[in-house]
Amino acid sequence: MKTRVKLSFIIYYLLFIISPCVSAQQTTRVLSPDKLTYLDVKFADGQLSYSAGYRTVVKAKKKGVKADTLDVPMILDSPLGVYTNVADFSKNLTLIQDSQSDEPVKQTYHLRQGKQSVITTENNDYNVLLSTPQRRNGGVQMAVHFRVFNNNIAYCYSFIQTGETGAIVVTGEASGFRLPTDATAFICPQSDPMIGWKRTKPSYEEGYIWDEPITKRSNYGHGWTFPCLFHEGDKGWVLISETGVSGSYCGSHLSDATPDGLFTIAFPMEGENNGFGSTGAQLGLADAKISPNADQAGVTPWRTITFGPTLKPIVETTIAWDVVEPLYEPSIDYKGSRNTWSWILWQDPSINYDDQVKFIDLAAALGWEGCLIDGGWYENIGREGMERLFAYCKQKGVRPWVWYNSNGAWNDAPQCARQAMHNPIVRKKEMKWLRDNGVAGIKVDFFAGDKQETMRVYEGLLSDANDYGIQVICHGCTLPRGWERMYPNYCSSEAVLASENLYFSQDFCNMEARHACLHPFVRNTTASMEYGGTVLQKRLHKEPNKGNTRRTSDIFELATAIVFQSSGQNFALTPRNLTEQPQFELDFMRQVPTTWDETCFLDGYPGKYVVMARRNGNRWYLAAMNAEPAAKTITIEPGVLSGFAADKAVLLTDGADGQTPQQQPLKLDKKGRLTLTLQPQCAAVIY
Ligand code: CA
Repeated sequence: MKTRVKLSFIIYYLLFIISPCVSAQQTTRVLSPDKLTYLDVKFADGQLSYSAGYRTVVKAKKKGVKADTLDVPMILDSPLGVYTNVADFSKNLTLIQDSQSDEPVKQTYHLRQGKQSVITTENNDYNVLLSTPQRRNGGVQMAVHFRVFNNNIAYCYSFIQTGETGAIVVTGEASGFRLPTDATAFICPQSDPMIGWKRTKPSYEEGYIWDEPITKRSNYGHGWTFPCLFHEGDKGWVLISETGVSGSYCGSHLSDATPDGLFTIAFPMEGENNGFGSTGAQLGLADAKISPNADQAGVTPWRTITFGPTLKPIVETTIAWDVVEPLYEPSIDYKGSRNTWSWILWQDPSINYDDQVKFIDLAAALGWEGCLIDGGWYENIGREGMERLFAYCKQKGVRPWVWYNSNGAWNDAPQCARQAMHNPIVRKKEMKWLRDNGVAGIKVDFFAGDKQETMRVYEGLLSDANDYGIQVICHGCTLPRGWERMYPNYCSSEAVLASENLYFSQDFCNMEARHACLHPFVRNTTASMEYGGTVLQKRLHKEPNKGNTRRTSDIFELATAIVFQSSGQNFALTPRNLTEQPQFELDFMRQVPTTWDETCFLDGYPGKYVVMARRNGNRWYLAAMNAEPAAKTITIEPGVLSGFAADKAVLLTDGADGQTPQQQPLKLDKKGRLTLTLQPQCAAVIY
């Protein structure tokens, strides 16, 4: 809990140690530890705003003249502030005091599931304490906490009790992100509330706009969901998101941009959660004298900005986890899991005892850890049948995962088991039954949006599940915001147009490669993504000659197992694959890991192609995927390839025609490089 202690220390420091330095107008520059990322925080006319960018070193033209640095602005002057029921903390502010860290704050932490397992960060802090003139603000003061990392900036607000008011309601934020109007966006709209299948939206399952002007109106007029990727031409790329959202606040998103390029934080819509619950956030304030958890009280989530001249800082960022803390200890040693999953291609009729046995057998044959029994089991298999399946799993060395409806009282999703996970009294009984039967995890579906009311449901569910040693995958849900670190038994979330749409729509199959080459740059940058992919059947159906046709190659599908990051992977393999696929494809799936020690972005462009490498233990995995309509030739440089064991590494390709999957020993050219030509919707894998 180091960071939180630090935060309360900062508050203490601000309140009692620093002498006030009241100023009517000032701009403070904060640099990252490498001095190449800058944040300018401006206080003027009673308002606080900021701008940010990176610095490039400009070589001197004359001898003897020192090299200079040039600011490359990425976020233009953008407002800060919070609207509450006691005061408007966006204007008429008085700056009480500010402070900047003397030297970088360092931390090293372990992340069980993510892009990287051991993460070391360094940042500089800047904190500002403000008050409003309103007489009835009850003595509430607002602090803004900035952290400037190399290529990343995060800020949050905290509210401090100095008078009688110990609780406030936040009704909105002025927090903004202004971009140049010629920037383009890769962003996903927020849907209307209570639309879609059984009124279950919003669930972050909308189509992206690709490289379009930032001022484009969102389809539903509600703005855009996190994370949001922007391209500022030659200057580079910007990723905006939020993290640290627990039951103490609501999830937010970005508004549509104003004509001059300003996005602001937008709160949930009134209609979410069937119209029930506030769109704002209820905050208890910090008072270190009487609150054991004062450092957690009155603090908002972090707004995060990642930028740089290339996509490397975006794909490799760990900011979503760097500024949060574990909220409780894991009750057991949780592990990643590869699961079979009948529902994705065999659908509802497969949720019966006999078909589940076939998928448990498939998991055992592949040496995978688990089998997910999807929605409908309560009705079609029953508890007694499930207990027999759990016993069969145990016999086969496979851990069961079980689907639940999160409902509740918030939508019409009918699948069972329902009315089991919404209430702590009921769900703890359910979880005891799961634990006693060796269940590793649950997949909980159909949540109700982003209101604080719903964030409390997630938090209660995760916390209770940890008491029973159970991991949680969320489906039909919001984006997880820092949860891989905050909740140790949290596994993964859908929050994307996922593999189920391959079954539902041929158009989605036609777009599969483009989406797969988009997610590493957007959806998967700040949060794990439970996509449910790696389909190896050519037709998406239980029957061999029915269903939609997959457009991607076999190796492309294998590559998604490396590129899509999630510590729990429900892969779409079926029993037929055991006899129909080349042995080397199955060999790859038998050993592909779900957790990573290192992630390295090599090349790519959102929606067009991606080349990235990940390491698990001593073994590197490289995936190169092409979604463009023409063949693409890529050259992989020696530095990257040195990580592969020269005598053991293999190269998987789709052959020169893109239709002949094959495995060969990895052979490099005389300069130690590898040149690959990837046909459209094809890929290469090295491991
Ligand atoms: Ca879904």
